[in-house]
Amino acid sequence: MTRAKTFVGGTYPAHNKDRTKAQPIALAPVPEVLIYPLCQHIGAPCEPLVAVGDRVLRGQKIADSTAKICAPIHSSVSGKVIAIEPRPHPNGQSTMAIVVENDGLDETVAPFVEPKGLDELSPAEIVEIVREAGIVGLGGAAFPTHFKLVPPPHAKIEMVILNGAECEPYLTCDHRTMVEKPELVVQGLRILMKALGVNQGYIGVEVNKPDAIAALSSACAAYSGIQVVPLQVKYPQGSEAQLIKAVTGRELPAKKLPADVGVIVNNVGTAAAVAEAVQTGLPLMERVVTISGSMVERPQNLLVRIGTTFGDLLTECGLKGQPGKIINGGPMMGMTVGTIDVPVTKGVTGILALSEAESCQLEVGPCIRCGRCVDVCPMFLLPVFLGQFAERGMLDKAEEYHILDCQECGCCSYVCPARRPLVQNIRLAKSGVLAKRHQ
Ligand code: SF4
Ligand code: SF4
Repeated sequence: MTRAKTFVGGTYPAHNKDRTKAQPIALAPVPEVLIYPLCQHIGAPCEPLVAVGDRVLRGQKIADSTAKICAPIHSSVSGKVIAIEPRPHPNGQSTMAIVVENDGLDETVAPFVEPKGLDELSPAEIVEIVREAGIVGLGGAAFPTHFKLVPPPHAKIEMVILNGAECEPYLTCDHRTMVEKPELVVQGLRILMKALGVNQGYIGVEVNKPDAIAALSSACAAYSGIQVVPLQVKYPQGSEAQLIKAVTGRELPAKKLPADVGVIVNNVGTAAAVAEAVQTGLPLMERVVTISGSMVERPQNLLVRIGTTFGDLLTECGLKGQPGKIINGGPMMGMTVGTIDVPVTKGVTGILALSEAESCQLEVGPCIRCGRCVDVCPMFLLPVFLGQFAERGMLDKAEEYHILDCQECGCCSYVCPARRPLVQNIRLAKSGVLAKRHQ
């Protein structure tokens, strides 16, 4: 049997996926009020295309921008715009948002494009559909997908890799998508391959998802050039550099993009969204979200309308009491949110409600120079020094030690026996280095 592939470094946090991985995706109730932040992607924020008092339809474009790196936003219900004002965002900030009161009718726009078969679509048409559908990376990065489909002229793209690793603990939304919609995922991969003019496609999946590997292998059996690649279970197997290394053996040098080594990476959920947009001519209006954690009564994966609040979903799943912490995403790379009034945006993969005991700050001790943080860093950095430079504000030194190559995976903090907040300090210092460069 072929050995599952992987990368050097990384760590093995407890999976905590058992409570949701075998449950079918259920439909989340559609709330009475939905909130659409104007920035749901990496890149320029959108500008509103509607005003307070306007009636909107489900699927109507309500915000867009002429900026290159941007994706339009669509209403996920029909109803009335009741406010355009700052609202809390799942990234912890307050940003402008369009607020829509749901009229419960779900009156939907006509498809923005006539559905066509893959053979009839040109690469340029695919790029346009993906942009108009507002599709961004659904694995959490939220990078506008259409922009990835037009790589820079110097890049010679040879393959598309779909990321089905889902290495973050607790999260199983990709797992369930692969098990329940394998044909859609494979169809999305074929569409992305056509847009990029390549004939090699890979789907990397960690071996703790044998049902997903079986379903995808069966779905892609009819197509040449597409292959499922079993990956070892290790964090951060799903980060781009580590995924590319595991699947192709290619190193992604620091400060380079996957396109520079001939690869475009997309999440499996993104591929499914691309296939749905092409098949229906309707934009991205919903996504699968894992709601889990020890404080959740009924952990599950829900198909959620974009704009539904965390509070709506936690009410649906039930809470066992007052959580100590609510996290947007997984525990390794996710962010704690200060309020459950934040909405699900396109990049929200999971909502975790953890207990007071799980979230309490353990006492930080002095560094004992054990070197564990260095051993696990998948970017071959020296987190022990980076953490110290960050704490002391030594930004020049931090830059000299390549702090900007840190992908904030959190492996160093996870293994540190002294519980030093390495990634938190590194993240702050990175912002400082970037701000200094900007000046
Ligand atoms: S230094 Fe950055 S890349 Fe390296 S383990 Fe820590 S968070 Fe991950
Ligand atoms: S893992 Fe923690 S204690 Fe060990 S060298 Fe790194 S910072 Fe120091």
